[in-house]
Parts: sequence; structure tokens; C-alpha cells
Amino acid sequence: MKITVIGAGAMGCRFGTAFADAGAEVWLYDVWADHMNRIASNGLHVHDGFGTERYVKMNATSDIATIPSPDVLVVFTKTIYSEDALKTAKPILGADTVLITLQNGLGNIETMQKICPGQPIIAGVTNYAGDMIGPGEVELKGSGITKMMAIDPDAASAAQIVVALLKQAGHHAELSEDVLKDIWEKVAFNAGMNTVSAVTGLTVAGMGSTEQCRKLLFDIASEAVAVANAEGVPAEEQHVHDVILSVFDPKMSGDHKSSMLQDRIAKRQTEIDAICGEVIRRGQLHSIPTPKAESMYALVNAIQKNYDHIVLN
Ligand code: NAD
Repeated sequence: MKITVIGAGAMGCRFGTAFADAGAEVWLYDVWADHMNRIASNGLHVHDGFGTERYVKMNATSDIATIPSPDVLVVFTKTIYSEDALKTAKPILGADTVLITLQNGLGNIETMQKICPGQPIIAGVTNYAGDMIGPGEVELKGSGITKMMAIDPDAASAAQIVVALLKQAGHHAELSEDVLKDIWEKVAFNAGMNTVSAVTGLTVAGMGSTEQCRKLLFDIASEAVAVANAEGVPAEEQHVHDVILSVFDPKMSGDHKSSMLQDRIAKRQTEIDAICGEVIRRGQLHSIPTPKAESMYALVNAIQKNYDHIVLN
């Protein structure tokens, strides 16, 4: 199977590595030319998170025209760059090329449908993690599970093959029975965890250290779950609260910095629109109040618009 990963940052490299380990023909594409050149020359330098390192051979390029038409295109940019990435990839897509999104946030399926109408789509969620160390070098973090589902019947067999490849590479992966529920429950989790950490600068353990902050995270999650339910998605409030509680355990991810906090530290634009923004927008459509999500949305937006003017950092 020919798999192209567009947006070969932390997660694109992590999944590219898994597909290469399973024997697929993998092409990485990224606008970061130095990163692609190093992988093309030396292979991807992978730190597996348990103290071992290796180099994984993969095709890597910043010239989309050199990539053969893929069976599967995995989009792993941050959500704010998905439209650009899909427009770049469009010329190499065949009629049957299946698009996959495992990105965080809401609206990823709709973006694919808008930019590449008629292309079969698989959507999913993953709580595997990764961090870029530098060009050509990635650290894989923790273990997890990846769930995905064919949004279009034409993508059903590809979904089975992709799950099988991930399992072959040692990942926990499975087909989802209700991917919108999975996506919304992750959004409900992220809507508080990401924004509160980005605003306060606290790690996951730090956020769990006071009752008031824990309550804020639960309240934001509950707002998102209420919006999901109004959209007809059976997201479960108790389940999301349980997951939030579980990550406060220092053994789980106590010193972990959320991706939005990492974006703030690096002064990058965040995925606030796809996470909180979409919850608020859809809440308004269904007359579901989301006051706490709105407050966090306002604060994160103010921060990312004023990176060079923040007096305390
Ligand atoms: P990242 O910033 O490490 O990587 C994104 C890559 O996309 C970058 O290398 C960037 O150069 C590239 N890019 C930007 N615009 C592009 C374009 N137009 N065409 C091609 N490439 C482009 O991001 P990440 O941490 O890998 O996250 C990717 C997605 O996965 C996000 O939606 C994130 O929320 C989600 N996610 C991340 C983690 C994690 O641990 N990092 C875990 C679960 C889900």
C-alpha cells in the first residue's frame, strides 16, 4: 500500500514510522524542507521514549509532484493548515485515494469534503503522542489507542487495512463503531485541558492540583458534551470526566505540557478554533450555553494575537 503523510511533524512522523515498520511504501511530505531533506538523506531519527533510538528509512520530500499517487493520504498538519495541505495534495490524488484524518478538533471531515469533494474519507482519534526534537528527529511518547471509521462506504476496506498495518507495527488500533462520539469526547477533554494549560502555563499535574481548577476542566467538558448531545452525538459526560481525572495521576501524564501550551511556548498559532471555537459555534446553533468555553476561547485568542506583547512569560 502506498501511503503519503502530509504534515510530517510529530504525529505524521510517528504514524509514518508505524506504516513503514509494517512494510507500506511511505512518503512523507512537509513544507519544512530541512526536515524532509534530513529524512531523505539519513532516514528519520526515532527516539522510542524508552531509551532506544533508530533510523527509519522513508521517502521524504517538499516537492509534492515527486510523490506517486497514493492509495491513502494521511493529513497530519495542525488543523489550521489542513486546507492548504489538502490543496497541495489534490493534484496527486487518484479517484480512489482515501483521505485519513486523526487530527484533534472538529470540522476535519468537513474540510476534506470541501477541498476534495467525492474523495473517500476515514476519520479517527488517537491518543498516541509525539514531539519533534529537531529536523529529521522525533520522540515517540507513551502508548495509547487509535480508533478510526470509514465515513464513506468506499473507504471501508482501506480502514481495515490501515488498522491491520498499525497493529502489525505494534500499535493498539481498532475500528470505531461511532467515530463522532470518539471525536467529540476527545474535543470535550481538550477544550479544557488545552486552553487552561495554555493560559496558566501549568502542566497536567499542575491543573489537577486544585479543586477549583479540576472543576473548571469538568465544567468546560460538560459544556462540550451538552453541545455534542444536541448535535445527536451520544458523548458521555461521566466518561470524559473519568478520563480527565485519570490523567492527573503523575504516573499517567503528570508533567505533560498540552499541545496548546507547547504552541504558546513556541509562539505558534493554536488549534483553538477547531477545539473551543467549534464547540461555541455549534452551541450557538443549538442554543446551548458555553460560557466557560467562551472565556477560555477569548483568553487563548488574546494570547496568540499578542505573543510579542506579553509582559509575563
Ligand atoms: P506538528 O506541528 O508537530 O506537525 C505538523 C507539521 O505540519 C509540521 O511539521 C508543519 O511544518 C507541517 N505543515 C504545516 N503546514 C503544512 C502544509 N500546508 N503542508 C504540509 N505540511 C504542513 O503537529 P503534531 O503535534 O504532529 O499534530 C498534528 C495533529 O495531531 C494536530 O491536529 C494535533 O492536535 C494532533 N495530535 C497531536 C498529538 C501529539 O502528541 N503531538 C497527539 C494527538 C493528536
